[in-house]
Amino acid sequence: MSDTELTNHGDPESANPEKPLNFIEEIINDHLRTGRFGQTVHTRFPPEPNGYLHIGHAKSIALNFSLAEKYGGLCNLRFDDTNPSKEEEEYVHSIKDDIRWLGFDWEDREYYASDYFEQLYSWAEKLIKAGHAYVCDLSPEDTRAYRGTLSEPGRNSPFRNRSVAENLDLFARMRQREFPDGTRVLKAKIDMSHPNFNMRDPVMYRILHAHHHRTGNDWCIYPMYDFTHGQSDSIEKITQSICTLEFENHRPLYDWFCEKLAIHHPQQIEFARLNLTYTVMSKRKFLTLVNEGYVNGWDDPRMPTISGLRRRGYTPESIRKFCEYIGVAKNNSVVDVTILENQIREHLNAIAPRVMAVLRPLKVVIENFPEDRVEELQAINNPEDERAGSRPVPFTREIYIDQNDFMEVPVRRYFRLAPGKEVRLRYGYIIKCESVIKNDAGEILELRCSYDPDTLGKQPEDRKVKGVIHWVSVDQAVDAEVRIYDRLFTTEHPNKVEEGQDFRANINPDSLKLLAHAKVEPSLGGVKAGERFQFERVGYFSVDPDTSDSKPVFNRIVSLRDTWAKIARKS
Ligand code: ATP
Ligand code: MG
Repeated sequence: MSDTELTNHGDPESANPEKPLNFIEEIINDHLRTGRFGQTVHTRFPPEPNGYLHIGHAKSIALNFSLAEKYGGLCNLRFDDTNPSKEEEEYVHSIKDDIRWLGFDWEDREYYASDYFEQLYSWAEKLIKAGHAYVCDLSPEDTRAYRGTLSEPGRNSPFRNRSVAENLDLFARMRQREFPDGTRVLKAKIDMSHPNFNMRDPVMYRILHAHHHRTGNDWCIYPMYDFTHGQSDSIEKITQSICTLEFENHRPLYDWFCEKLAIHHPQQIEFARLNLTYTVMSKRKFLTLVNEGYVNGWDDPRMPTISGLRRRGYTPESIRKFCEYIGVAKNNSVVDVTILENQIREHLNAIAPRVMAVLRPLKVVIENFPEDRVEELQAINNPEDERAGSRPVPFTREIYIDQNDFMEVPVRRYFRLAPGKEVRLRYGYIIKCESVIKNDAGEILELRCSYDPDTLGKQPEDRKVKGVIHWVSVDQAVDAEVRIYDRLFTTEHPNKVEEGQDFRANINPDSLKLLAHAKVEPSLGGVKAGERFQFERVGYFSVDPDTSDSKPVFNRIVSLRDTWAKIARKS
């Protein structure tokens, strides 16, 4: 697959013409046919700045921006910042960073729901004047009790029939800081026996004497999500307001507010949120993982956050391809995480330079190779990409191989190194293990080998050497730290737990293995954070930002093959 193919997300020219329309595109086509919004398509991505974005948000981002692009429309970025105590500036920055990194651009259309507070306030007054809203003094507990149950209708609040004048006066005084938190709310006057709970006089405004990251202490009343979201969409002249399924039964209220206010009325469309196997997908749970030290921050490479995936070494192209591949649906389901892993594997197979790195070094002395000689062997940079060329790797009398590539007592069909056996060094010679040097405790210190100078790039006819192993020169290798990441959870559905437990019960205790004494080939001496490589025979790795001039740090992005599938098949 080519790079251009990967970056042409959402371009209708490059889209597969045979790909059937998804249900959202069908709705948009309908709108274009009937001219409901003229010929305009204007979407938005509306994050609440109360955490870092995750791969589920990437699906929503890709969907909204790609639809806009496909139809020649626009997509806004809008921070849904109505909840003063939870929102932080740090999150706003990270969200913008992540969207940009994914490759999407909101240009100058960066909006904040909090910028609409004044407009929302006057719309609330408008509803009061029209008899569609009232100030209610029921306590939160009573409000709950009055709401009724699934089988029983609610009861009208005793404050429901306040006069318009009294409501306007009380609402103004709520704003003027006259009342403490929780003493009064503004409610929409709809129908306390409506089958949909959201229509049983929902709260529009609550009193919260709290500092807001943008409006400071200007406000002590804050609008609820339902009285903010649709109106913000309306102000921005959004056409299709795409959200996840849990908002389906908020749609009647979305429509009710737009109708009663007689304002531009976008179409809310719900789709299934992304869930992944072996993954939790909620900011609240991420916060637990971060705060309780299960991971090292929001951008820990094990986190399904965008910043975590980025630090891990995922490419934005692979994430966009993943989002395109899984598509959109109307029913909730769980996507197999291997689909995501296969996307990055496929992309890196095409673009990642191959290098040699020994994670658990075992020293090998090649006794018949001269001590001061350095031979430059040619190694191919990427067999998938002819233009990538080759590079020299120094071969010397002492090399490191991986401990896993030697067995003192080999099992059947072991084709790597063993006493008296031969193996080929990648891009180099065939060597033979002559003896094993151990310490007093019986631990293997080094191997003594011989090499056959006639075997460079040649297979002698009389010998069958099946194994090929990677290696680095002892003198010329660079010290490195390698971090082997595995899935953060041991079970497919981490939220499925026994009674009294929560998702933490399924955390994988071995999700990070530190290999502090790895040796990598000298070409990796000056690597920069974010560079990606295939360590031959080992996996794909990226350079972590922790990298210092003296010691590179590599994160394992993904193994070369899906090793979990094998485990699942065995068990
Ligand atoms: P979480 O439940 O993880 O805390 P959220 O829904 O509260 O997330 P928001 O910031 O409100 O997060 O979401 C911004 C947008 O991203 C919303 O339109 C929301 O529907 C969408 N979104 C959130 N999670 C997912 C998901 N898993 N899959 C697809 N879209 C999602
Ligand atoms: Mg939310």
